[in-house]
Amino acid sequence: MTDLIDELEALEREGREAISGARDAAALEAARVRLLGRKDGRLTAILRRLGDLSPEERPRVGAAANRVKEVLTGLLEARAVEVEGGAAQAAGIDPTLPGRRPWRGARHPVTQVMDEIYAIFRSLGFTRARGPEAETDWYNFTALNTPLDHPAADMHDTFYLAPGVLLRSHTSPVQIRTMQAYRPPIRIIAPGMVYRRDPFDASHAPGFDQLEGLVVDEGVSLVDLKATLAEFARRLFGPEARVRFRPSFFPFTEPSAEVDVSCFLCGAKGCPACKGTGWMEIMGAGMVDPAVFEAVGYDPERYTGFAFGMGPGRIALQRYGIPDIRLLYESDVRFLEQFS
Ligand SMILES: [Zn+2]
Repeated sequence: MTDLIDELEALEREGREAISGARDAAALEAARVRLLGRKDGRLTAILRRLGDLSPEERPRVGAAANRVKEVLTGLLEARAVEVEGGAAQAAGIDPTLPGRRPWRGARHPVTQVMDEIYAIFRSLGFTRARGPEAETDWYNFTALNTPLDHPAADMHDTFYLAPGVLLRSHTSPVQIRTMQAYRPPIRIIAPGMVYRRDPFDASHAPGFDQLEGLVVDEGVSLVDLKATLAEFARRLFGPEARVRFRPSFFPFTEPSAEVDVSCFLCGAKGCPACKGTGWMEIMGAGMVDPAVFEAVGYDPERYTGFAFGMGPGRIALQRYGIPDIRLLYESDVRFLEQFS
């Protein structure tokens, strides 16, 4: 038995020397195989002879073998780190430098606003609907109670792709397509790009995101419209937010309103962002005109509904105090990473 204890002590001594003398990863691996290799390693050879010992002697030698194995394994690991660091230094790399945090990207501010709006309306029972960006003039105007010679058709100043085919000037055609495809009750929000022949300046863009809502059922009233939009404003702008409705005109709603929210930047006291009024215009809304229901084959005597539309881009400008809408389109990382 003392033979085996002596051999284990010799193995530890030689192992320490071999490990500290290994100059690279290959030499270190060779030492590991020679000392602790499972098949032909020195330690394995010693352990094979445990069977020759008496049952009383075995635990003591076994414990000594385990200790040597632990010591050598620890030394191998420590030396591996040193050898690797040396290789890095030889290659001109300083492994002690702190790491560089990778840039992780950020969602575009308009996307952030849209995602919040989705979440609010989803919790109010709305589903998302989509439609094509290239539309016919019937879906974009006629079905929405806007004859092509109607002044509102001029008001839009539309991009035509071909006679009768255009880039939609609002997301309202999605209302028409949804009502053609489904019977009431309808409760949708329709996000998407819309296009208008506007100059590209600090407050206009020829293409921008719009988000529209439509609710149709029996017995839907103006009260439902006001309650829905007031709740929406509280959830998006905070519990203090109030809304007000100003009479307005849209061909596809009657009555129609511009919806203002109390300025969330100054607490409705009046600031440059709200032009001193304490209010910010956030959307248009109204009760669906019966002529729209007739265009899609709904019975206007039976069904009523409301619709609203807003520009998430404009809300993002207001919320983040962005002075120029063109910043939203330039994909400048220095601008965008401020919203991460
Ligand atoms: Zn204000």
